[in-house]
Amino acid sequence: MIVTRFAPSPNGPLHLGHALAAIIAHDRAVRDGGTFVLRIEDIDGARSRAALADEFRADLAWLGLAWREVAPQSARIASYRMAADRLRAMGLLYPCRCTRADIAAAAQTTGPDGPVYPGTCRDQAVEPEDAVAWRLDVARAVTLAGPLQWTDKRAGVQRAAPGLTGDVVLWRKDAPASYHLAATLDDAADGITCVTRGADLFAATHVHRLLQSLLGLPVPVWHHHPLLVEADGRKLAKRRGAPSLADRRHAGEHGPDLAQALRAHRFPAGISLSDYLDREP
Ligand code: GLU
Repeated sequence: MIVTRFAPSPNGPLHLGHALAAIIAHDRAVRDGGTFVLRIEDIDGARSRAALADEFRADLAWLGLAWREVAPQSARIASYRMAADRLRAMGLLYPCRCTRADIAAAAQTTGPDGPVYPGTCRDQAVEPEDAVAWRLDVARAVTLAGPLQWTDKRAGVQRAAPGLTGDVVLWRKDAPASYHLAATLDDAADGITCVTRGADLFAATHVHRLLQSLLGLPVPVWHHHPLLVEADGRKLAKRRGAPSLADRRHAGEHGPDLAQALRAHRFPAGISLSDYLDREP
C-alpha cells in the first residue's frame, strides 16, 4: 500500500508551494487507498518553533486534507545517533572542523546546494572533540555500496551520483543530525513508499539512496514535483512577500477552493510551475 508524506520544517510559515506539495502527496495516497503522513522536521533547533507546527496542522485541515501524523524528528534523535555511530564504525564518517567561511574560501566547485566541500579535513587527523561536524566520506561509501539506482516517477530511473554534493554533513555538534541522515532514516521508519517532495531536493536523493544502501534500509520511489516559482523563476518565499497559508486562512479565504485551484494548476498572477526536468543533471 502506498504511503506518502509531507515533511515541513517549522522554521517559517507554509505558503502556496507547500500547499501544492502537501496536496500532491495527499492525493497520490488517497487515489490508491494509501496513507498520507505528516512529519514535523523540527531538529533545526535554533530556528524551529513549536507553535508553527500547530499552524501547519491548521493549514492542512483548512485545505481539506486528512493525514496520519508520525513522531517529530526531535523525538527520534536516538535513532539518528545510532545510525551515525554505525557509519562511523564502518569508517565512513570523518570529523570536520571547517567553518562555513572556510568552506566558501576553499571550495573549487559549486553543486546543487552551493559550494561543494573540498574534503579539507578528510585526510587530516582532526580530533573528534574539535569537530563541528561529521561528514560522509562519499568516495569511500560509494566504493563500499557499488553502483546504485533510484527511480523518480517523473524523471525515470536515475543512476545515483552522490558525489554531486560532496562529502555532506551527517552529524553536527549543535543540530545534531543533518537533514540527509534524519530524513532518510525517518522515511524508512515511517514506511514511506513514495517520497514526495519538491524538485529542489532532487540532488539530495542521490545521497539518500547511498545512505539507504549503507544502512540496509528499504528503497522507496521518489516523486520530485515541480516547484511554484515567481515570474523571475525564483521559488516562492515568504520573505519576498508570498502570503502564507495562515495569512490566507485568517483572511477568511476558503481553503478547499484554494486546494481545488492548485489541483487545477490555477495559480495567482505571476506564479507558475517550474519545469524542473529541463534543469536537472
Ligand atoms: N523538511 C524539508 C523542508 O521543509 C523537506 C524535506 C523533504 O521533503 O525531504 O524543506
